[in-house]
Amino acid sequence: MINYPHIESEDPELFALITGEEERQRDGLELIPSENYVSNAVREAMASTLTNKYSEGYPGKRYYGGQQFTDQVETIAIERAKKLFGATHANVQPLGGANANIAAYMALMEPGDTILGMDLYHGGHLTHGHPVTYISKIFNFIRYKMKDIETGEIDYDELRQTALREKPKVILAGFSAYPRELEWQKISDIAKEVGAIAMADVAHIAGLIAGGSQKNPFDYGFDVMTTTTHKTLRGPRGGMVMIAGDRGEEIGKKIDKAVFPGLQGGPHMHQIAAKAIAFREALQPSFKTYAHQVVENAQAMAEVFQAHDIRLITGGTSNHLLLADVFGSLGISGHDAETLLDHAGITLNKNSIADDTRKPMDPSGIRFGTPAMTTRGFKTEESKQVAELMVEVLKKRDEATVTKARADILALAEAHPVPESFA
Ligand SMILES: *Cc1c(COP(=O)(O)O)cnc(C)c1O
Repeated sequence: MINYPHIESEDPELFALITGEEERQRDGLELIPSENYVSNAVREAMASTLTNKYSEGYPGKRYYGGQQFTDQVETIAIERAKKLFGATHANVQPLGGANANIAAYMALMEPGDTILGMDLYHGGHLTHGHPVTYISKIFNFIRYKMKDIETGEIDYDELRQTALREKPKVILAGFSAYPRELEWQKISDIAKEVGAIAMADVAHIAGLIAGGSQKNPFDYGFDVMTTTTHKTLRGPRGGMVMIAGDRGEEIGKKIDKAVFPGLQGGPHMHQIAAKAIAFREALQPSFKTYAHQVVENAQAMAEVFQAHDIRLITGGTSNHLLLADVFGSLGISGHDAETLLDHAGITLNKNSIADDTRKPMDPSGIRFGTPAMTTRGFKTEESKQVAELMVEVLKKRDEATVTKARADILALAEAHPVPESFA
């Protein structure tokens, strides 16, 4: 346990909120697929005095003095990241996944250039040029989609035709609501054919790649990979850009300039230390076991939903997340399903499904996943129990069912305490 004696005595108002959130995370069941529990070691680094230091620049090339420790912190983080993902270059300074993507766009394109990415309603992310983002006004985002929502297969022929016609500078492969693996080789082949850079945004699946339960885009000819460090990778909230391949050196220099001074100011060295600690944890053999269990648990939950005839987008899952069409299968909207399950002690999010006819704030689907509960030690048996409870709540919706499910969920959570260490 980490205590907060100074916050408690000096700022009781914030102390109550911080401990309240800590209890919420401990007592309930977290099924938001982009969330996880970090180790106390990661949390200690986030609370360290490294937060006091300005380190604009890169190791050995800083604008301020006093970098004898910070240079080493950042170098260790970079080396561990390269080892974990087989990269030749890593920039560990992006403050989040969005920053990592924006820096990569800035490094790889000029304003007005075209980038071909996954359709946002077929699993792509806001930062992939959603019209509400400022970055969508700077670059020309065009889209590819799934060919078949029932299997999740991407329309690679259409992707290739679009690439041949539009000549994008970058082909972007990555997602936050797609339960299948992409065929990385096909996408990088198309990028080569049209002279585009192949960029993967693995924000959601970085931990699964590091742990070997998903393929690594760098093994299939990708040039650039961006990620968050706080989702399946189980590190501090943050981002990272990595490079591999023949053009690595040239692209790496551009990425470094784009991150600083192009986009950000001083790096958050406490966060970089925490990233280094998380990378070390992910290099341990136990992380492989974790990454495989995450996928097995998601597949166990998929089996239960399908046994109850609830439609899963793409017909199941090959990674850590599931998208269920609760409106189409049970007549309950994604918003109402989210609220009902919240009452039953489960946190997840409503989500649009591909070609949803309902509005984004009240869509047809729910999205959920297994990274956080697997960190707590849930195996396939418990995952099935959770899925059964979810289905019962969504089908019956009466108070007695919700109350009983809540008791069962809280008991399951209590029996699987959040671990403090992954050393
Ligand atoms: C979460 C996510 C991001 C953004 O990360 P933030 O740290 O929230 O900025 C970018 N891309 C994808 C695919 C994501 O899932």
